[in-house]
Amino acid sequence: VGVFYRPLEKIGAVMETYPRGVAGFRRFQALLAIEPDIVDRPGAVPAPPLRGEIRFEGVGFGYEPDRPVLSGIDLAVRAGETVAFVGPSGAGKTTLCSLVPRFYDVDRGRIAIDGLDIRDVTLASLRGQIGIVQQDVFLFAGTIRENIAYGRLDAGEDEIREAARRARLGALIDALPEGLDTVIGERGVKLSGGQKQRLAIARIFLKNPPILILDEATSALDAETEREIHLALTELAEGRTTLVIAHRLATIRHADRIVVVAEGGILEEGRHEDLLAAGGAYRRLHLAQSLDIRPEPGIVAAE
Ligand code: ATP
Repeated sequence: VGVFYRPLEKIGAVMETYPRGVAGFRRFQALLAIEPDIVDRPGAVPAPPLRGEIRFEGVGFGYEPDRPVLSGIDLAVRAGETVAFVGPSGAGKTTLCSLVPRFYDVDRGRIAIDGLDIRDVTLASLRGQIGIVQQDVFLFAGTIRENIAYGRLDAGEDEIREAARRARLGALIDALPEGLDTVIGERGVKLSGGQKQRLAIARIFLKNPPILILDEATSALDAETEREIHLALTELAEGRTTLVIAHRLATIRHADRIVVVAEGGILEEGRHEDLLAAGGAYRRLHLAQSLDIRPEPGIVAAE
């Protein structure tokens, strides 16, 4: 399973990026009983508004001291570029991406955004400029409006509606008698998995961060939902530096760059066509997945 599954326990920390401590966050944090071990360095300064150029420079990391998960990672991601990470399960794709919001700190090397070592800026200012879309969406009992505006309590009606529209939630909201003020959760309307994901996407449209991390869904959604979410995510990625943790090759063939991660290192990188032509690891992964392709409706079959 992709997801920041293990780092998810750290996600509470990311909620602190929301300046006015929302009660929902506190509940969530209490729920997970987090003792954050990544904290601001003495003298850390707030990051300025970031363009989103991300550099991994000789990055090494392991969850345990004597078991490196990543080593010697050198990668420069241009501001606005979409980079998809592919590779076998357990290769380190999720781990690599979880270092950017500092769910963990590197053991070696450094990660710099716009030339700033991410350990030199405050966590709140770093994470406040990173949007994360993952499979497990955190919603709290409240209205759709409150859930969308979660990270931006100052957001106006128009902004919230626009975010919902761009996340392809407009039709759903229009169909509900109470619209944006519909209560969701146990005492209200139950949202489907796909609707929850679109709500999470609406949140990020509203937050408008320069950097995006997408943990691609592995669970099957119906074709129409899949298509809607794909469109919303494509639009969300526009103009932002986007790191995609890819589980299916078919959905990332149009990425600006594909990076093949294996055994904790970068094996190859390039565009889909070039990597296929190179006949290396990507081509092998691709062939393996092509053979395994199930005729799921809505998913563009790999050639
Ligand atoms: P997948 O495609 O299955 O999501 P991945 O490429 O994203 O895999 P990671 O989840 O980054 O791989 O895992 C890389 C390695 O780190 C694996 O060996 C995994 O077992 C290990 N690992 C991941 N999270 C933790 C953790 N919190 N503690 C210890 N080991 C971990």
